[in-house]
Amino acid sequence: MRIAIIGGGAAGMSAASRVKKLRPEWDVKVFEKSPYVSHAPCGLPFFVSGFVRNLLDLCTYDVEFFREQRGIDVHARSEVLEVGDGHLDVLEGGKEVSYEWDRLLFATGARATPLNVGCEDVEGVLSVHYIESGERVRQLLSGSERVVVVGSGYVGIEMSEALSKLGMRVTLIERERHPMPEFDPEISVILKRKLEEKLDARFGEKVVSIRGKDRVEGVVTDKNEYDCEMVIVAVGEEPNVELARRFGVKLGKSGAIETNARMQTSVKGVYAAGDCAETINLVTGESDWIPLAAPANKMGYVAGVNMAGKDMEFPGAVKSMLTSFYGLEIGKAGLSEREAKSKGIDTLSATVRMKSTATYLPDGDITLKLVADRDGKVLGVQAAGMGVSKRIYAAASLLFKGSSLKDFFFVDLPYYPPQSRVWDPLVVAARNLFRKLDVP
Ligand code: FAD
Repeated sequence: MRIAIIGGGAAGMSAASRVKKLRPEWDVKVFEKSPYVSHAPCGLPFFVSGFVRNLLDLCTYDVEFFREQRGIDVHARSEVLEVGDGHLDVLEGGKEVSYEWDRLLFATGARATPLNVGCEDVEGVLSVHYIESGERVRQLLSGSERVVVVGSGYVGIEMSEALSKLGMRVTLIERERHPMPEFDPEISVILKRKLEEKLDARFGEKVVSIRGKDRVEGVVTDKNEYDCEMVIVAVGEEPNVELARRFGVKLGKSGAIETNARMQTSVKGVYAAGDCAETINLVTGESDWIPLAAPANKMGYVAGVNMAGKDMEFPGAVKSMLTSFYGLEIGKAGLSEREAKSKGIDTLSATVRMKSTATYLPDGDITLKLVADRDGKVLGVQAAGMGVSKRIYAAASLLFKGSSLKDFFFVDLPYYPPQSRVWDPLVVAARNLFRKLDVP
């Protein structure tokens, strides 16, 4: 059996490893257009800041490891140009080569959304997506003092922190009134204050053009103009699905590849996993696009099991995420209230502001918002402050099981004064919502 996998990131290498483990005698080929496989773009801000010194440290394993230890036929620097029935055309070593497949996986990931204001190919304007871009940012640092970061999603804020810690003067521009627009304002306002304290953070401003010919000189918004030597574009991402679309694979509403729980696409023998694929959002029960590393790895794993002729289902994900900015943790699992309302759900919410540790110890403020529906099913949790990660871990686990307010209230969370509260913020928020539902 000939297995072809397009993309050697988290999803592609997880799938390849699984197939080879279950079917050592099968021919498993991975085509990856960059020199790197099993890479971790999540570590890019830490490479840019200098905390991670070597770009290769962002690759869990290298090409030789997969070839020699796992017997996977990895073709790095090989770009798949076209997919046909049972074959694909690959550009490698400057030549076009055709390979045959019996089962195929699209693991082509996502890419940064362009700003679309023109002049983006001006030197010094770049987005941070593939790990090579980390190297480029590091090169551009010499000769740069001022950087404009466009977009305040987690990539924008993590890059802003990395660059500001290197002594750059960072201007962060966000067209919305709050950072991280997928959060409700009660939470994102806390991050907004921190961004304004540490950077020149501008909200409600839209970039209209970029100045500079040979090298970027500045960014023009609908309100101001900012001189700079570097621009980081972090305005979102979109799934890489052109190959799949041309091949005739069905795309879902989000634009990513439609899959079932076995990661099969609409075409027999063809699978998709990771950032290029849709999965089920376990909170809404609907198909969703969840471009995050943990689901990508697991989708790849499940695709590999099924491609090997065994049976496994990927249940879906709750879209849980964490980030931080200068020590302020921000996290979310499930839906914000705004997201729930946009789906026509009648919501209840409680926001608690309290210490996340025992009151007699210093530090530890947290603001946590819990959103539920009128039947008492919890839809999402968001938080900012200190001790956020453990609450989001707990919330993600409970949401994964479709838990109710009662579950959130009674869950037996551990108590230790420097770490937590007897009445934990999650528990208090659930109790506050009980009152709205007339629970004694
Ligand atoms: P990718 O890792 O993008 O791999 C896809 C691969 O396909 C790429 O190597 C690409 O070169 C290759 N490819 C595409 N087209 C072709 C072709 N035609 N031929 C050959 N090869 C091709 N997620 C988190 O959960 N937590 C985080 O903290 C986090 N931080 C992040 C920070 C940054 C700066 C970025 C950019 C992303 C971050 N993510 C984070 C997202 C996470 O990196 C992705 O969800 C994950 O990498 C997806 O894995 P994937 O295998 O689906 O796609």
